[in-house]
Amino acid sequence: MSAKKLDFESIYFDLYELNSGIFAAMSADKFPTSNAGFFDLGNYLVIFDTLMDPYSTIDLINASKQFTNKEPSFLINSHHHMDHLLGNRIFPMNVPIISSFEAFGQAKESLDTSFKNFKERAPAELKRTEAELLNEKNPNKILELKNDLNTWNEISKPSFTLRLPDFIINNSFTLKGTKNQVQIIYIGAAHTKGDIVALFEKEKICFMGDLLFEETDPSWLNNSNIAVPPNPSRLRDTLIEYAEKDVETYVPGHGNLCTKKQLLENAEFYDEYYVKKSQ
Ligand SMILES: [Zn+2]
Repeated sequence: MSAKKLDFESIYFDLYELNSGIFAAMSADKFPTSNAGFFDLGNYLVIFDTLMDPYSTIDLINASKQFTNKEPSFLINSHHHMDHLLGNRIFPMNVPIISSFEAFGQAKESLDTSFKNFKERAPAELKRTEAELLNEKNPNKILELKNDLNTWNEISKPSFTLRLPDFIINNSFTLKGTKNQVQIIYIGAAHTKGDIVALFEKEKICFMGDLLFEETDPSWLNNSNIAVPPNPSRLRDTLIEYAEKDVETYVPGHGNLCTKKQLLENAEFYDEYYVKKSQ
């Protein structure tokens, strides 16, 4: 089955059904942020990653409810980076958030680093967004900026905090639903210290988190906002290992849906710019 674009209105992502009950929210041509997914396993609804912006995460939850007629059962964080984790707080406390042991530790640490940085940036971002809003004519952009203002206002509040994962794993497991089953695979150190991917073996679909990007760019090496992978050779080897699997559709953390071609390109990129350079 090829990816079917669904009729869902969001300024943040396009929604695809990759196979029966397997959905991907792709931000590629819209707001340039990360991708996420949700899986209808029959008796469970699993959300794979949140989106940076609370409103995009709300859209993701609404889409998951609309197309599955279920409430989210679990949320999985593929890794700890803020663009995949910041929406955690939108989920009700009775929905467990699953992450690797390392992602949990790193998320906890980022409360003092990137999270603190967000709070410090809030006053300037509020000013900047307000100014931008005054000159904006595009209705989608206006909605986005208004949502941004609400977000930065929320971030400024002393009570604003990050919801950390609470179901911590250091091994792989399978969620066997009545309709679909998914393998939640613990990769360990690659793009971050503790990455997770979601594999649908029968449907030949893999959600790769940020192990995979549709496009890579050598300028990342000089960009302090882009984290250096803690284990680039392992990242390269994992990409090659997954390219050799019987998988047809790979959902990257950023960009459009991928095939084996991008996995091999990514593997080559990390080899060239990170593995060889450190030798
Ligand atoms: Zn990341």
